[in-house]
Amino acid sequence: MTMTEPTAEGRFGDFGGMFVPETLVPACQELDRAFREAWADPSFRAELDHLLTTYAGRPSPLTECQNLSEALGCRILLKREDLNHTGSHKINNVLGQALLAKRMGKTRLVAETGAGQHGVATATAAALFGMDCIVYMGTVDIERQKLNVFRMQLLGAEVRPAESGSQTLKDAVNEAMRHWVSVVESTHYCLGSVMGPHPYPWMVREFHRVIGDESRQQCAELLDGGVPDVVVACVGGGSNAAGIFAGFADTDALLVGAEPAGGAAVGRAVPGIVHGSRSYLMQDEWGQVLEAESISAGLDYPGIGPEHAHLAATGRARYEPVTDAEVVEAFQLLARTEGIIPALESAHAIAWVSKCRDELRGKTVLINLSGRGDKDVNQMMDELG
Ligand SMILES: *Cc1c(COP(=O)(O)O)cnc(C)c1O
Repeated sequence: MTMTEPTAEGRFGDFGGMFVPETLVPACQELDRAFREAWADPSFRAELDHLLTTYAGRPSPLTECQNLSEALGCRILLKREDLNHTGSHKINNVLGQALLAKRMGKTRLVAETGAGQHGVATATAAALFGMDCIVYMGTVDIERQKLNVFRMQLLGAEVRPAESGSQTLKDAVNEAMRHWVSVVESTHYCLGSVMGPHPYPWMVREFHRVIGDESRQQCAELLDGGVPDVVVACVGGGSNAAGIFAGFADTDALLVGAEPAGGAAVGRAVPGIVHGSRSYLMQDEWGQVLEAESISAGLDYPGIGPEHAHLAATGRARYEPVTDAEVVEAFQLLARTEGIIPALESAHAIAWVSKCRDELRGKTVLINLSGRGDKDVNQMMDELG
């Protein structure tokens, strides 16, 4: 069955696994046990649902876009993750992991962040749960994302510069993992996407499954029990896409992940091991991980979650590149036609639909609007100014 459980070793077909230093194996195994147990416990699920409802603002609405549908010639539905607390889907995952960490008796959260959005989300959950929070961030990103650094500090988190390598996201992940090894007793590593060693890709997908489950039900109400023809989401590490795909994997809906052309891990399809699991990633001929480059800092991850690699390899999902220029156009298109300013990440999904409008003519297309664009307005002012 597609998008159910990985094997006991955390494998999705040829991908996934637990490739970590020996010192981290017990921590990953402990987490696997704890998550398995919590996820099967109705009281844990009820407590998380309560938080998602009363704190994060779920369920998020499904919006039918009359104007955009008319403009593109297909029926467009948006899943509104932009309306969640902190402005994106990321809150689903951090609330789940923070609640799990509390249940495991941990008192500290450590996280990595690139653009700063996952750092802000983790700092938010840590504040809510009264936990200490340390966020690793590349020195280059700290300089580029000053506002999010300040937000994390406002929320009580400590931002630690990752000074190795290219001083960006992939280095922040390495340093967060290195720190975790030395403090596993007290600390949970709150990873930000469907990547890393088992159980993270599976666990993070399950915490985001709520996006797909809600959408499935909302679509059924709107479409007389039916499902959309196409489900589209942007892909960085792949967590918002995994969440919405999970709700439709058992249907015949076409699943599409929109990747930035400058970070198209699937497009370039080289399997390798990075950050604890086997997946597709961008690397040079010597196996060195390459820098991803995209207009949206939130998609600057050189790899993709292992389950997406599996979905791509088996043909269940398609992964398509979109260019920065197409994204800038889509960002403005949604703002003008629907009065919704999308996150630049989410604009990748809109861009793919707009670009493929001929192929999609007459179809019903569900787009995951993973986040809102307030954070990107300054950058767009420079871009368009
Ligand atoms: C972080 C982020 C993404 C990329 O992460 P995924 O794990 O690929 O979902 C996409 N959209 C928004 C709004 C984000 O903040």
